[in-house]
Amino acid sequence: MKALPAHPQTAPSLFDPRSHEPSALFAAGRAAGLSDDALLRWAGAVIGSGERAAERVLSEARIARRFSLSGLFHDLPSLSLAKHVRSERDGFEKLLFETHDGLKIETVLIPLLKERAVSICLSSQVGCVMGCTFCATARMATRRNLDAWEILDQFAQARSIVKSQGRRVMGAVFMGMGEPFLNFGNVITAAKWLHFPVKDAISGKAITISTVGLVQEIEKFTSLNLPFRLSISLGAATDEKRARLVPVAARTPVQSVMAAARQHAAARRDRVNLSYVCIKDENVSIEDARALAGLIGDTPVRLDLIDVTDLSGRYAPPSEAELKAFRDALSEYLKQPVARRYSGGADIQASCGSLAGS
Ligand code: SF4
Repeated sequence: MKALPAHPQTAPSLFDPRSHEPSALFAAGRAAGLSDDALLRWAGAVIGSGERAAERVLSEARIARRFSLSGLFHDLPSLSLAKHVRSERDGFEKLLFETHDGLKIETVLIPLLKERAVSICLSSQVGCVMGCTFCATARMATRRNLDAWEILDQFAQARSIVKSQGRRVMGAVFMGMGEPFLNFGNVITAAKWLHFPVKDAISGKAITISTVGLVQEIEKFTSLNLPFRLSISLGAATDEKRARLVPVAARTPVQSVMAAARQHAAARRDRVNLSYVCIKDENVSIEDARALAGLIGDTPVRLDLIDVTDLSGRYAPPSEAELKAFRDALSEYLKQPVARRYSGGADIQASCGSLAGS
């Protein structure tokens, strides 16, 4: 990862609640003499309402002015919204943000089937070192983790846009730019805040964290017993094909990834989400269906099939007939739920694998 200087506004002496676990806000606030009710209102103002100006936070949280001298209340930094585009095809929207150090990140507004409901797809890193060969994010030159506040600010600004449209944010998915589990601490902090019980909190089940299969982090996530959903993206069912499509993740045998998935499903007593990017002439033959079903075995899963979007033109999605044959074969061999997940916003480069800060 490229080392970058700290943001001047997030120097250690200035407390930004969004960059710390919720428990840190309570510890810092109690130490300054604030009541727990006031602390909840503070969290509500910053996380629930997305307020960043110290004056407005103090006013909404009904906290006495004298606490502004505690060093806890100051104007919080924000991302600059550089572009907002909407797909003419399917209503997906994409926000392009610029960070304080001039980097670009993208956030996608996903319309849900429920009327006026939206899910927000968040980026967790600038660029990505995982090198998946179909992914535009992997080709970005600059890479760094996003701070938790940068993840939460994407959400806050996206939610404010959604609200201004008379709609409501019902979910959040960590499936934008980056491998969320390479930025484990900040992603978990952000997810905890999204779920924190203040106004407009997101249900734990409606927050999904995706990974391309980092086994140690999957195990860590399982052991933390957090209420969020896990989604594992496989790429392919064999180590040989994974080495071509998801080369860095493929350094770990796919059997180990499935073992971690099985352990997660058992710990949760629930199905684990698997996603599979479908690529013409690469991983959608009947043989691939048999291999995938054999790999999954009796591990309880929800399997989502997603058409590849590769802006480089190297890979193409399968035809409808190919995909139907693959899905039928999978259903026959696997006997578990298999769904096709729509990856929208293709006309605005908002689909899975096409986010590259453009
Ligand atoms: S698909 Fe995900 S993990 Fe793979 S390079 Fe792209 S952002 Fe990273």
